[in-house]
Amino acid sequence: MSRLRVALPKGRLFEPSAGLFRSAGAAIQDSGRKLLIPSTDPAIEFLVVKPGDVPVYVESGAADLGITGTDVLRESGADVLEPLELQFGFCRLVVAAPTHAHYPALPGGVTARVATKYPRLSQAFFAAAGRPVDIIPVGGSVEVAPLLSLSHWIVDLVDTGNTLRANGLVERETILHCGAVLVANRASQKLKLDAYLDLMERLEHAG
Ligand code: AMP
Repeated sequence: MSRLRVALPKGRLFEPSAGLFRSAGAAIQDSGRKLLIPSTDPAIEFLVVKPGDVPVYVESGAADLGITGTDVLRESGADVLEPLELQFGFCRLVVAAPTHAHYPALPGGVTARVATKYPRLSQAFFAAAGRPVDIIPVGGSVEVAPLLSLSHWIVDLVDTGNTLRANGLVERETILHCGAVLVANRASQKLKLDAYLDLMERLEHAG
């Protein structure tokens, strides 16, 4: 049977992702600092990459499969299969603003500036609502943007809401409910169908 290469995301989705594959009989084998990590199942090997890189690895075929959040996936616009929704990584992509900030419009017809790590999804959301905004793309620490007057509002992921509260921000609207998903390369799903179907069945029972 052909070998499947699986891209796992670093960070908060890593442990539950590794745990899912462990339950499915493919536990990560400690391999020092190797790029490709073998598993207890010789037919499956892992690649651990930044969460934002999983869609491009899988879309390009550098990895056959991957785990990523739907926030990252939709933002990337990658053309991949999504055979399995997973039961972890739940969160929401929301618009948030400082407690006393004007929302959903600023006085005097001023165009709001919105800081976010999700420029595509944010732009699409406000455009669909017919509300023009200026998107300020940032790489991290989005919550501080309004405190520093970089932006009026932000678009960011929320889980418990603690981070927003700690920065004096309140949720105004939900853009997207997110969670982890298994993604697959379109061509390799066909070329390695037997291995793919076998793994899919094991993951469905493990989850
Ligand atoms: P919280 O304080 O629990 O609302 O968590 C918010 C922080 O955690 C933000 O910085 C988010 O970017 C991050 N976060 C929350 N949920 C997720 C997730 N499922 N995947 C990645 N990052 C997340």
